[in-house]
Amino acid sequence: MERPDRSWFDAYMVPNYAPAEAVMVRGQGSRVWDQDGHEYIDLAGGIAVNALGHAHPELVAALTDQAGKIWHLSNAYTNEPALKLARSLTELTFAERVFFANSGGEANEAALKLARKYASDNHGPSKRRILAFEKAFHGRTLFTVTAGGQPKYTEGFEPLPGGIHHVPFNDLEAVKRAVDDDTCAIIVEPIQGEGGLIPGDPSFIQGLREICDQLDALLIFDEVQSGMGRTGDLYAYMGYGVVPDILTTAKALGGGFPVAAMLTTERVSKSFGLGSHGSTYGGNPLACAVAGRALELISRPEFLTGVKQKAAVMFDELEALNSELAVFSDIRGRGLWIGCELNDHYRGRSKDFAAAAFREGVMCLRAGTEVVRFAPALNIDTEELTEGLSRFGSAVRSLA
Ligand code: PLP
Repeated sequence: MERPDRSWFDAYMVPNYAPAEAVMVRGQGSRVWDQDGHEYIDLAGGIAVNALGHAHPELVAALTDQAGKIWHLSNAYTNEPALKLARSLTELTFAERVFFANSGGEANEAALKLARKYASDNHGPSKRRILAFEKAFHGRTLFTVTAGGQPKYTEGFEPLPGGIHHVPFNDLEAVKRAVDDDTCAIIVEPIQGEGGLIPGDPSFIQGLREICDQLDALLIFDEVQSGMGRTGDLYAYMGYGVVPDILTTAKALGGGFPVAAMLTTERVSKSFGLGSHGSTYGGNPLACAVAGRALELISRPEFLTGVKQKAAVMFDELEALNSELAVFSDIRGRGLWIGCELNDHYRGRSKDFAAAAFREGVMCLRAGTEVVRFAPALNIDTEELTEGLSRFGSAVRSLA
């Protein structure tokens, strides 16, 4: 049988992505190998997804064990892995009710719909406005891409859903000016990921909570990227000490298996009454079995402490690299989620950095054109982390 190569991508797939030239065939922990046997250290984590690295034995066991039992039922029936995962999520977070979906965008779509439905059930017909933030990213469905604050992702897809307004992130005064009694929800990433790894100021995040309380609007935290241990807290809201009404989680939740969840309170959940929303695959037993095990491993206090310790090493290494090579104007982030903003000399070249890193055998990410982003596995060992950053250093030297 003919072996597929990278040229097949251009021949057979819609051209909305531009994947690297190599085709990856195997991963183990924080290392990945391509068809030609080249080895890479993975500091990208599949865009903050592979929180436990590749082929983690406990996730493989959870998946294969479930694969021999039952794969799919639909929501006409419930199943043990989904029930267990829902209970664990409510025990470990503010939430009292869980809705399962398959991707971050779908979880956010559910959150935005729920917020409008809640307003419809509890307020008059005009309370439908949603406040969102510039540079935010919430997914690619038409509703979520409209809530996202990046016009390049909505251009050409008009007409867009109405009633969504954007203000600058971290600008509480702008929020106060933009909201009114018709505002039914504010959706925010407590730490913006795709927008450049920008942490919300604690006073800003707290201020959003107070504004929502005053208006009886729902506060939605999109923790699709910041969630499940990425910041060293199980969810970033815990580090802020600010509790949302709805939280969305995906990416690391399944450690690489597609799954997402929308968490909320019992009171708010009532607005998703029978038949009001749904998903064929949401709560799929395979996905929930893997996510259940991932949650169990990641939520352990010693695991989360390890994330913070490794994050400190990573910051130090990147600072050292920068004092030698002077490429970044800022190194910021939380936990094992770090964005390095390029200085004026390298303006707009994040893509070149990611490509050079790949040539040196290390995978990293970009966040826009100005920020090189790292989101390695949360269980990466310190030696691999250091070796990965040393390869990244070689990449930077090759550009300098
Ligand atoms: N929300 C945030 C904060 C994200 O970072 C992403 C993806 O990068 C999404 C939502 C969309 O998730 P998905 O691609 O799984 O639909």
